[in-house]
Amino acid sequence: MPDAPLEHPDQRRQPREGGEPPAPVPPPPAYEPILLRNIGIPDSHLLKTALSRGAYQGLKKAQAMAPEAVIEEVKKSGLRGRGGAGFPTGNKWSFVPKDKWPHYLIVNADESEPGTFKDRALIENDPHLLIEGTLIGAHALGAEVSYIYIRGEMVLGAKRLEAALAEARAAGLLGNRQIHVHRGAGAYICGEETGLLESLEGKRGYPRLKPPFPALVGAFGKPTVVNNVETLANLPAIFDKGVAWYRTIGTEKSPGPKIFCVSGHVRRPGNYEKPLGYPLEKLIYEDAGGLRPGRTLKALIPGGSSMPVLRADEVQGLTMDYEAVQARGSLLGSAGVIVMDDSTCMVRCLLNISRFYAHESCGQCTPCREGSTWLAKILGRIEAGQGEGGDLELLLDICDNIAGKTICPFGEATAWPVQSFVKRFRDDFAAHITQHRCPQRPAAVAASAR
Ligand code: SF4
Repeated sequence: MPDAPLEHPDQRRQPREGGEPPAPVPPPPAYEPILLRNIGIPDSHLLKTALSRGAYQGLKKAQAMAPEAVIEEVKKSGLRGRGGAGFPTGNKWSFVPKDKWPHYLIVNADESEPGTFKDRALIENDPHLLIEGTLIGAHALGAEVSYIYIRGEMVLGAKRLEAALAEARAAGLLGNRQIHVHRGAGAYICGEETGLLESLEGKRGYPRLKPPFPALVGAFGKPTVVNNVETLANLPAIFDKGVAWYRTIGTEKSPGPKIFCVSGHVRRPGNYEKPLGYPLEKLIYEDAGGLRPGRTLKALIPGGSSMPVLRADEVQGLTMDYEAVQARGSLLGSAGVIVMDDSTCMVRCLLNISRFYAHESCGQCTPCREGSTWLAKILGRIEAGQGEGGDLELLLDICDNIAGKTICPFGEATAWPVQSFVKRFRDDFAAHITQHRCPQRPAAVAASAR
């Protein structure tokens, strides 16, 4: 199947009103996807289509194994969580105690990191892949009841999951297990696993202090594993084709396929499934069609908006795996690759990111609640040409008082973009302050905007 980007309405590239239509982009090189292999097949969300494409074969093989053996296989596969942290999935499962029951498996389908749109694509187009992965996980954990916590805005995804579950149930594929779809209300913080659990229990989505970790005290006070959609979508292939085959994909420390969500200043934005360790430049310049004509790369965020930004010179020769991205000073995160060309105002870009995090802070911790708002206000002042000497130091000081001092990792998500933008593009910020305007905007426009 051609390795084309998915055609969700919000991903289709439309020419701007009055502008030139985008130049034709040659098709990307052929690739045989594993996770996205059913995308583009008519009625891919229906059971009959899924079965005709080999669905539920991995489940059969996993169910023929003892739960402990399933966990060992997943450990051997080297599968790492695809939600952002990259923690080894088999190890996470093995933390669940055997003397405390019941166990719950919760699917985190609350995808909301800006620049990330892979889980939604999987759910809407191939819900049976997720159901099969969930059933394999539930078998390994001995979880009779599982919940798929799906972001409230994903209306089509929720409907398709419900319909697919009804089909799978009627076909006897669920056995005695229950899988429920639980719709969230659209809060970023409910993608944090303990905020998600609170919300699932009917409470405000306030993240919990850890320890205790969900493996011991999770949903309804019981041992719980929370796995990301893409993580579970890897399981059917691991059990259908075997661990040895799976480990031929990707790198030694980062095995398997990964969906990279490419957005921003590329000619063909979309979801691209590649082996971990795939060259970033190939992803941008070949698969995603490259930058707009006449533009050069200025900056790139490799893992969703909460991850540190990198300069163009820092991403040369970069391969997209957990270790390589970390070695360059950022993190793979959700693999939401946000591309910025030389027309980008870094101050305005960071302001946009910081406003988002200020809006999404749950407000439990003072450093996060107050600090995220201060950051957005100061950046708004700088962007409007009213920055003052000392503002950059003030921004960094506020970040130092947020990161590592909060209940959940949202503190880092708020601070890391500011720290990395200011560190790597300090001249851009300083120019805004000294010139009292954006150097990339004509002076007259800047003056009229003030
Ligand atoms: Fe809420 Fe922010 Fe504290 Fe997380 S860090 S619990 S989002 S206030």
